[in-house]
Amino acid sequence: MKQYDYIMIGSGHNALVAAAYLTRAGRSVLLLERNDRPGGFLRTEELTLPGFKHDVYAAAHPLFLTGPAYADFKEALEARGLRYINTDLPTGVSMESGETAVFPRSGEALAAEAERLAPGDGAALGRIFEAFAPYAGDVFELFNLDLTIARASAIIGNLLHANNHNGHVPAGRNAALSAFSAYLFSTARQAVSELKSPVTRAMLASWVTHLGRTPDEVGSGVWVPLTAMALMGGGMPIPEGGAEMLASSLTQLVQDQGGTFITGTQAERIVVKNGKAVAVRTAEGEEYHARHAVIASTGPDQLYLKLLADEPVPAEITNQAKHFRYGRGCVQIHLALSEPPQWPDARFNQVGQPHLTDGLDGFTQAIAQGMSDLLPAKPTFTVDCSTNLDPTRAPAGKAIMRLQVLEVPCRPRGDAAGTINVGDGTWTPELTERFTERVISVVSKHIPNIPSAIIGQYVVTPDTIARYNLNSGPGDPYGGAHDLAQSYLFRPLPAQPSHQTSIPNLYMLGAATWPGHGINGGSGYIVAQKLLAGEKFV
Ligand SMILES: Cc1cc2nc3c(=O)[nH]c(=O)nc-3n(C[C@H](O)[C@H](O)[C@H](O)COP(=O)(O)OP(=O)(O)OC[C@H]3O[C@@H](n4cnc5c(N)ncnc54)[C@H](O)[C@@H]3O)c2cc1C
Repeated sequence: MKQYDYIMIGSGHNALVAAAYLTRAGRSVLLLERNDRPGGFLRTEELTLPGFKHDVYAAAHPLFLTGPAYADFKEALEARGLRYINTDLPTGVSMESGETAVFPRSGEALAAEAERLAPGDGAALGRIFEAFAPYAGDVFELFNLDLTIARASAIIGNLLHANNHNGHVPAGRNAALSAFSAYLFSTARQAVSELKSPVTRAMLASWVTHLGRTPDEVGSGVWVPLTAMALMGGGMPIPEGGAEMLASSLTQLVQDQGGTFITGTQAERIVVKNGKAVAVRTAEGEEYHARHAVIASTGPDQLYLKLLADEPVPAEITNQAKHFRYGRGCVQIHLALSEPPQWPDARFNQVGQPHLTDGLDGFTQAIAQGMSDLLPAKPTFTVDCSTNLDPTRAPAGKAIMRLQVLEVPCRPRGDAAGTINVGDGTWTPELTERFTERVISVVSKHIPNIPSAIIGQYVVTPDTIARYNLNSGPGDPYGGAHDLAQSYLFRPLPAQPSHQTSIPNLYMLGAATWPGHGINGGSGYIVAQKLLAGEKFV
């Protein structure tokens, strides 16, 4: 019988992180992966022309670099080829007006940049960070904790109540909520409202879209200082040679520690006996037995409605799994360039991932169009050019570029500009080509040698994303909407506010669980600690 201590369904980076901890502790681990190799959205391919190495999906890993898994495995991963290259200018913004701003990692330099754009904004920015500073340590600690454990509840209590942080509670108002609580219900636009410069406001508030939020959405405000601090701490690191180096070094580590991978196989059922998950069955009918636990790197919909379709699951859970919501889609355009982009502001040659926009109002309009299932008339997006930091990604003198458009509908029903025929909403080659032309025409307003330098192009659409990864629903890059009602203790489901499922030895990890999407390794770390600490319960 094929038996392992732990069986993992899927091998995205969170599963790999968990497997690295479990195999290091001497446990036998099997990872079942539907794709031809492990890593999930960490994948580097010569998509356009030979010698041009594009990160098909995820590219930069600021949150992983500052997380505990990297601290624990840094040397082991470096010994297996991982080397991060970073920049002191993680982001910036280029406005259609020609104005630009960069985001230096040093607080003083950032304040100076804000001051340059609008006198007084340096101090205003300082006040935004000062207001958040008392909470930052607690908040960052939560990213590596199961939110249902006592330590997390204590931190959440601290964060929410005024008397625990700033000490001055007005008489008779012991129940007063903290400034942090107000942040939780504020919008990104409110968070930057003290700044006079529309350029600085756009630079700071636009980033919430990379957290699955929008600048005018309740709950996005807190992510403005959080993202800024994360970018200051983590920069915008990319692995030399391509993002997949993180997956391949983790995979090698897990294998060296005794872990087993089976790729090209889809897990179809989890077998439950006497209330415990005992085995996983694949589409080919193979059954693998789990001595301790099964760990599903899936969304709650796949887990409860497919993998556990034959097993008794509480009706409340099944019902909520049916209503798990996916967010907007993503179009990611990969370009091969005959020469590096010629930014008018030369500082942008060192900027990790800048936004191109005409400002926060235009961004909000584009998002509203995307949320109404319309192709945005004037998309706002980020541009990164990995070859600026890592010349190994392209032949000498050439460059690659990634355009990440996050506000597109998974299945458009129309075009906000009224010029593209979307048909039935399928991302056909023609629809993809027309939308790509629109995006590139925006780029040409910011970078004069685009489109003339383009020598190759490959476009990832929501349909590509949905086909590649079952955890994306109709093409959501972030594995389920991250609005307030599906975040924090509501993720993955309100009735399951943790990685622990209602079946005692069945766990979830990955983007559908806290702390959510992104290359952060958080849920892999949380689940591994929980499993290693609690094996006795099985
Ligand atoms: C286009 C795009 C760009 C992105 N850019 C960035 C970026 O620059 N920086 C960043 O931090 N994040 C980025 N992200 C988000 C980030 O990639 C994801 O949030 C992250 O990869 C999620 O990791 P995960 O551990 O949940 O596993 P995933 O990467 O989602 O991988 C899950 C794996 O499980 C497998 N699987 C699922 N079900 C089964 C099954 N039944 N049987 C077998 N295998 C199964 C899938 O095939 C997949 O390989 C991007 C995402 C996309 C799509």
